Amino acid sequence: MICKLCPHKCGALRTKDTSGGKCSLTLTPKVARIAPHFWEEPPISGARGSGAVFFSGCTLSCVYCQNYEISAENRGTPITAKELSEEYKRLEAMGVHNINLVSATQFLPEIIKSFEIYKPNIPVVYNTGGFERVETLKALEGIVDIYLPDFKYSDDKLALEYSGAENYVETSLSALSEMIRQKGKLSLDDNGIAQKGVLVRHLVLPNHTRNSIEVLNILKENFGDLLTLSLMGQYTPCGKACEHQKLSRKITKREYQKVLCHLLDLEIEGYSQELTSATTEYIPQWDFEAK
Ligand code: SF4
Repeated sequence: MICKLCPHKCGALRTKDTSGGKCSLTLTPKVARIAPHFWEEPPISGARGSGAVFFSGCTLSCVYCQNYEISAENRGTPITAKELSEEYKRLEAMGVHNINLVSATQFLPEIIKSFEIYKPNIPVVYNTGGFERVETLKALEGIVDIYLPDFKYSDDKLALEYSGAENYVETSLSALSEMIRQKGKLSLDDNGIAQKGVLVRHLVLPNHTRNSIEVLNILKENFGDLLTLSLMGQYTPCGKACEHQKLSRKITKREYQKVLCHLLDLEIEGYSQELTSATTEYIPQWDFEAK
């Protein structure tokens, strides 16, 4: 295919054996880990874990990515649509609360095929950096139950510098509008486990509380009470973060509190984090063997 799956719209030729474009991936999905995952928000991980499928590559190239080896270096093992569908069954049999597709857009045609082969009886989560095309998200309608997108920046210049994304704010806002159009507000079952809707994540970056505060303003202004937000304070310098002076430390309690207070002032519903999670211990051990 001539690939325009993500907002980079490279127009590169990609086939199951030919890689191309900014992501340098073939259309054959690659995975770094498939396993129950316990470090998502409480309504996603619950007590039995989220059935996470970590795909290689990403539509964003964040210099501070905690999954840098798989997102930027594309490490992983090829897997077919049929094998993926078998993995959904295996995870479901383990009792996880959902199937959680982490950074999947670059392989979307094969992923859609995997759900044509087997549609799980538990919710499907689309866990994305949030930099997505509306046209691509439309192809997921009827497959995805819960969108779990990031919204990282209120400033296009920061997005370009730290994540290599052009026209970030308008693109990510359009994507979020489409997700909310499809699934609406986050809804939970009687046990507090998410069944459908959208949960937006925002990671507070060191030295950038003004960016975070403006992100909250933009989200509240655009989505009002439909918004459920997870405010993350787990930033720890990873990847190439230390090449950027402002990103080379963890966030302080004061920085997190300042953003959290603004979230409370705006009466945004959601989840906050203990800063004890700001450690690399929470990064999964990649096995690159998928199972
Ligand atoms: S998925 Fe890859 S090739 Fe396709 S538009 Fe995005 S970066 Fe370019």
